[in-house]
Parts: sequence; C-alpha cells; structure tokens
Amino acid sequence: AHRFDSIAMAAPDAILGIGEAFAADPRSEKMNLSVGVYKDAAGTTPIMQCVKAAEQKILESETTKSYLPIDGLPDYRNAVREMLLGDQVPADRVAVLQTPGGTGALRVAAEFLATQCSPTRVFVPNPTWANHTAIMRAAGLPVETYRYLGSDRHSLDFQAMVDDLTENTRPGDAVLLHACCHNPTGVDPTTDQWQEIAKLLASRGLIPLLDFAYQGFGDGLEEDAAGLRTVLQHCDEAIACSSYSKNFGLYSERVGAATLIAATPSATAASLSQLKIVVRANYSNPPRHGGAIVATVLADPELTKIWKTELEGKRLRIKQLREQFVAGMKQQPGAPDFSFLLQQKGMFSFSGLSAMQVDELRTKHGVYVVGSGRINVAGMNEEKMDWLCQAVADVM
Ligand code: PLP
Repeated sequence: AHRFDSIAMAAPDAILGIGEAFAADPRSEKMNLSVGVYKDAAGTTPIMQCVKAAEQKILESETTKSYLPIDGLPDYRNAVREMLLGDQVPADRVAVLQTPGGTGALRVAAEFLATQCSPTRVFVPNPTWANHTAIMRAAGLPVETYRYLGSDRHSLDFQAMVDDLTENTRPGDAVLLHACCHNPTGVDPTTDQWQEIAKLLASRGLIPLLDFAYQGFGDGLEEDAAGLRTVLQHCDEAIACSSYSKNFGLYSERVGAATLIAATPSATAASLSQLKIVVRANYSNPPRHGGAIVATVLADPELTKIWKTELEGKRLRIKQLREQFVAGMKQQPGAPDFSFLLQQKGMFSFSGLSAMQVDELRTKHGVYVVGSGRINVAGMNEEKMDWLCQAVADVM
C-alpha cells in the first residue's frame, strides 16, 4: 500500500487563497484589500530605488557566494541593532541573528524559548497575526491568549489586557506584543500604556517577545521603536523579531532578525550560542542577498536618505488613503462613521465588516477582503476611492 494515499488535504491558506481568487476574477473593476503587501497608486509593488542602487553596488563588489556565519552578516547585525535600539542598550548585551524574514525570526525565538526557557508559555493577543500561533505551536511552545481588541472592534481594551496578563501568567512566561502597527487590527497601545505594560512585564517576571514587522509604517522609524525601547527601560531581558520585508520592500528576499537582549554580557553570549544551535538545525545559516541589501543601504548615507524618503512616502500615502476613505464614507448617505480608521496605525485595519458583508463585497463588487474584515489600506486606490466607498456603503 502507498503511504501517502491516506494523506488528508489541508485547508488552503486563508489569505493567500483570496489573492488567487482575485487574480482569477475576470471583472475589470476589482480591488484586492486582503494580502499584506504595500501597493502604490498603480496597484503594483515595485522594487525600492535604494534597493536597486544597493543591488548594483553588491553586483560590482561581491566576491563570493560562500556561506555566511550562522548568525549572518556582521554589518547587517549592527545596523539592525541600531535601528531597533539606538544606543539605549550596550552592544555586549545584545545578540542579533540575521534570519529568513520575520517569520524565521519568530520560529528561532520560539524554539529558543521552548528549549531553553521551559516550562515557559507564550501569550499572544486576541486577535493576532494567524501565523503567530502556528509558528509557536510548531516550535513546541504552548500558546495562550490575552484579550486585546475591545468589543467595539476598533479600540484597545487595555484593562482587559492588563487583567489577563496579571491573572493568567506565571513568572517566566513570554508575552508577544506587536511593537507597532498591530496586525490585523491597526490598534496600538499609547505611550502611557506602553509604560504600564513595561512595568507589568517587569514586575511579573515575564519575557517580552516583540514582533516588529512594520517599523516606519506607524508614526515614523524612531517613533515606532518607542514601544520596544520603553519595554527595555523596565525589563533587562527581551527578544525582538524584526522583518525588513515591508519597510525595504524585500518580501521575497527573506530578511529579518531575531534580537535577544540579556542582563549581562555572559548571559548574552550563552544565549547567542544556543540560538545558533537552533539555527544550525533549522536552515544552517541565512541567505545573503537580502541582508546584504539592507546593510549596503544603511552603510551609505546617500542611500539611507533615499530609503527614508521612500519609506516616509509609503507611510504618508497610507495615512492619506485612510483620510480619503473616511471622508468618502461620510459622503455616503446612511453609512456608518469610519473615523476610527484615522487612529489606527500601519497597513491594516479592522473595518468592522461582518463575514456576510465581506462575502457580498466580493461577489457583488469585486472587492476582496479577509473574512475577519481586516483591510489592507495600502490596497486602496486614490482614483477608485468613490467606487470603493459606494461598494462598502451598498453592503452595510
Ligand atoms: N509578523 C507580522 C505581524 C506580520 O504581519 C508578518 C508578515 O506579514 C510577519 C511577522 C512576517 O514577516 P516576513 O514576511 O518577513 O516573514
């Protein structure tokens, strides 16, 4: 008998499946607000100029394709440390590993927690990026949730979050926080709330695990690091998992970092040695190209300037799209107020659309939204804004 004949078909990925359905939709007027990729006004995701220029430099200067160290390119690791922490934490308390995307960073962090910090559990917000739970479980790390989104579905229920993290956690548990631009809701803690969260984590002996996939998409590069840096004012230990897929537009190059902060240089060195063991048994060492691009851009003041301008352009355009959509919905007779979208940060927002309304938007109007009602604001389009607002009003 064949061993594979009895394998059950897995469900397709909920979000990527929508992209396929969108591509197959023959209507000329359609809009994809589902997948988490930045799109410009023409609906495309072009390579950033700073990246093209860095690749040109790399093409001319690269002399080998030999393996990288297990923890990646030294210049990249230093650049990441600076982007995340500035000079807040001494370098000898920080271990940075270049990883295949933010996903790779999360997987490495989860395996480290599962093997080195057992019996730790990880608490993730409800809701969170669906892959968080999958990654943590795959690494053998037990997953619990804490309440996050309020019953209005567009603001933070901070008291509930604090209550859950106080009452349900044990010392040594890890708490996953979105450093900025919470996916899928766009709802972030305020500065004061970050202070309270940081104190709570410190006083209960919890390990902060920050997922930082959207630095530069909220309020700005430095501003978006404030949550992580506030946590580190109160906690001696933390792990940050960052991604450069979005802010460098390097989605397919798979470039991210797992950054561990420990209380002492010797604890940092020991932790790094264990993180390397995790990497060795997973993918051995990271791919070079994406990390080399980021390191090349950040080592060159001119390219850094171009990068910051390009990233700021994306951030401001998303903000503008939010404003246009809210204004557009105000023009629709009887439509609800969407002003809450203006407070939310980053590419995503919970629209408040029900599963049925999401369904109708797709079948009647060719607007593709994830079942939860999460919309990728960057998928909107200046020219089609009136059309979109009419479609949304029609199903509400
Ligand atoms: N974390 C969050 C919250 C994300 O939204 C994403 C990507 O969508 C990631 C991590 C993973 O990023 P990457 O594509 O670099 O693996």
